[in-house]
Amino acid sequence: MRSFTTLDLQYAHRFYEFEGEAQYLHGHTGVLTIEVEDTVNMGVNMVFPCNEVKKTAWEVLKNFDHALILREDDPLLPAILGVYEAQGIKNGAIQNTMKGEAFKTELATAYPDSRLVVTKETMTVEGMIKIVYDLLKDKLNIVKLTFTSGVNGATEEYKTTNKIARCPLCGIALNENGVCPKCRYNA
Ligand SMILES: [Zn+2]
Ligand SMILES: [Zn+2]
Repeated sequence: MRSFTTLDLQYAHRFYEFEGEAQYLHGHTGVLTIEVEDTVNMGVNMVFPCNEVKKTAWEVLKNFDHALILREDDPLLPAILGVYEAQGIKNGAIQNTMKGEAFKTELATAYPDSRLVVTKETMTVEGMIKIVYDLLKDKLNIVKLTFTSGVNGATEEYKTTNKIARCPLCGIALNENGVCPKCRYNA
């Protein structure tokens, strides 16, 4: 069976060198839907607790929330960094607390201290799905991702080969030692 959850991401971006109004800096509330698939965990009666899917995803994806997302060749990037530097907020600020762990993949690099994500490709809804799948494919049994932003939306389906051992008491993934991080159940 499948279970799914959604999360919101508020971000600013633009389509550099795009012929249209999206070449100007603007913002969105994007909605990401993550579908995971597995057997229904006996007793717990869930595929995977949706709040845990959300938590796992949010750890990484909060880097996109209240962030500026720019393509690596966008001249706005050095300009913005220059302003942040001059203002003393490039390497973090006391109010900048909702930071995820920095990451670097083939498609995107997160700089949580300056709330920036730099992408290889233009950050369209399709681009976001590619980035998200890459970041979460080993952590969750993702079979479908959907991302909507304003009137734009994209969706992609996947096959998962992950074998994630789940706690028989609360359904969340066991850690590498076979222990449940939530209830301490020990396989
Ligand atoms: Zn846009
Ligand atoms: Zn447990």
